[in-house]
Amino acid sequence: MRIRVTGLSQGTHQQFQQEPAASLGFNEQKFHFTEPVCVHFTLQKVGDQIVCRARVNTSMETECSRCLEPAEVKISEEMTLLLVFSRMSARDVTGAELKIIPQDAEEVDVTEEIRQAILLAIPPKPLCRADCLGLCPQCGTNLNLSNCRCQVKVEDARWPGLHKLLSNKSKGE
Ligand SMILES: [Zn+2]
Ligand SMILES: [Zn+2]
Repeated sequence: MRIRVTGLSQGTHQQFQQEPAASLGFNEQKFHFTEPVCVHFTLQKVGDQIVCRARVNTSMETECSRCLEPAEVKISEEMTLLLVFSRMSARDVTGAELKIIPQDAEEVDVTEEIRQAILLAIPPKPLCRADCLGLCPQCGTNLNLSNCRCQVKVEDARWPGLHKLLSNKSKGE
C-alpha cells in the first residue's frame, strides 16, 4: 500500500486506499478477511515533513476463544506516522514511527506499517459476542445454544474450594 507524496502542497490532504489483505502480506490460510483493508489517510505537510494519520478499517472472521464458533472481528485502528524528506539514510534515525524518505520520492510504501497496525488490533482472545457463555467444560455443549445437566455440578464444584479457603483463613487467625 502506497501513499502519493509527489507534488503535495503544504497543508492537509486526504487519500483513500483499498487493497485485499493478501496484498498486504497476510497469510490467507491463517487470516480470513471478510473485507478489504480500507485506509483513510490524512496527510499534513509542513515544511519537509508530512504527518500521516491513517484510519485502518477491515473485518475478519476467526474462532471465538470461548465457544469455538465463528467470530467476526471488526478492526478500526488509527496510527500516526511521521514522514521526513531527507538525504539522511533511514539507518541514521531510530524510532519506529518515523520514516525517512528520499527528497525526490513520489510514493511512500506503508504496507508494513499498516500490516503491523492490523496485527496489533487483532484481539488475542476474540469472542463471538461479549457475553458468550462458551462450552461446558464437562460435556462440550455450546451453552449459547442449549443448557446441559452438568452445569449444576460445575457450580457445586466451587464450594469445596471455597470452604477450604475459609477454613484455612480461620486457622491462620
Ligand atoms: Zn463464543
Ligand atoms: Zn455439560
